[in-house]
Amino acid sequence: MKFRSFTPPLRTLLGPGPSDVHPRVREAMGRPTIGHLDPEFIRMMDEVKQMLQYGFQTQNAMTFPVSAPGSAGMEACVANLVEPGDKIVVCQNGVFGRRLRENVVRVGGRPVTVDDAWGEPVDPQKLEDCLKANSDAKVVAFVHAETSTGVCSDAETLAAIAHRYGCFVLMDAVTSLGGIPVRIDDWRIDAVYSGSQKCLSCPPGLSPVSFSPRAVERIKSRKTHVTSWFLDLTLLMGYWGDGKRVYHHTAPVNALYGLHEALLMLTEEGIEQAWARHRRNHDALREGLEAIDVSFYVKPPFRLPHLNAVTVPRGIDDARVRERLLREYDLEIGAGLGDLVGKIFRIGLMGHSSNPKNVSYCLSALSEVLMDERRGSSSNRVLA
Ligand SMILES: *Cc1c(COP(=O)(O)O)cnc(C)c1O
Repeated sequence: MKFRSFTPPLRTLLGPGPSDVHPRVREAMGRPTIGHLDPEFIRMMDEVKQMLQYGFQTQNAMTFPVSAPGSAGMEACVANLVEPGDKIVVCQNGVFGRRLRENVVRVGGRPVTVDDAWGEPVDPQKLEDCLKANSDAKVVAFVHAETSTGVCSDAETLAAIAHRYGCFVLMDAVTSLGGIPVRIDDWRIDAVYSGSQKCLSCPPGLSPVSFSPRAVERIKSRKTHVTSWFLDLTLLMGYWGDGKRVYHHTAPVNALYGLHEALLMLTEEGIEQAWARHRRNHDALREGLEAIDVSFYVKPPFRLPHLNAVTVPRGIDDARVRERLLREYDLEIGAGLGDLVGKIFRIGLMGHSSNPKNVSYCLSALSEVLMDERRGSSSNRVLA
């Protein structure tokens, strides 16, 4: 058989994730594998938990990475917090809000949705109206940074409203963690999940989660078992909790070395500095895009600095542009999803990818391809 080692091309990843992995993280992942119950490994796990608490700005003891990508973190939060028959308010303004609702349905919850248009944030007034009409709702779930549209919702306000109506708060922070302020304790978020491959500069495959003490109480007093054995928090606590570690599953040892290194880099940079860096590089990108007449899809106050949704210029074939950027420039940017297919590009500046060099590279590559495409389409018209 004619198989050979796989050598990936060297790309610049400016899509919706994964983002570029820092060489320090890659190097850490190549270190020797040790046993997942080795005392040295357990010491490292404790540091991962502490550094994740810093990342999430929380004191929650139940803060750890689920051994699977962001969608598994979503499923862990929903499966543990929701019991069959529970009424759950799900805010939907993009792909990931829809996925949250689907998860609620699958664990037997009864979703009530608060719908906002794609490209708009979740409207706090609509949430309030929905909770007034559904006083028996148990949980409010929403996406902080909707990666499918590049929109940021006001997590603090949404959580405050949910608490006023006695609900638990479940938040998707997959794209926000490390890129924009996420303050789990100040905002009183009860269950949150994230992902390793967006602003944390790791490869995909891990999902940091955090549960408040009151969420843990709710989970411990469930009347029914969590249907997923793998994601059952009461079992995971035995492995990631503070007591003696007992085998649950074999943790992805080397992936966790990578997360440890990435979180170490976050503590070295400082989380506020990381947020400021994402903001600065966004500002530079925005100025450059405006200079080449590429306009933003989202209104200024709701734009994510690290996931720039821009309108595909008229007469331009978005798939061709992305294909040329990849082939000619080794540059990946994202396409629109769902309702926005063909309408937007999504330019990510997340984690290690968020730097001035990538901003200039993206601007020059995109302007050259767009100019060339415009020239091509006008000469086609002349021929036709
Ligand atoms: C990427 C993403 C997810 C899913 O994470 P995966 O690692 O792809 O499973 C969920 N929510 C949001 C907001 C995301 O951006």
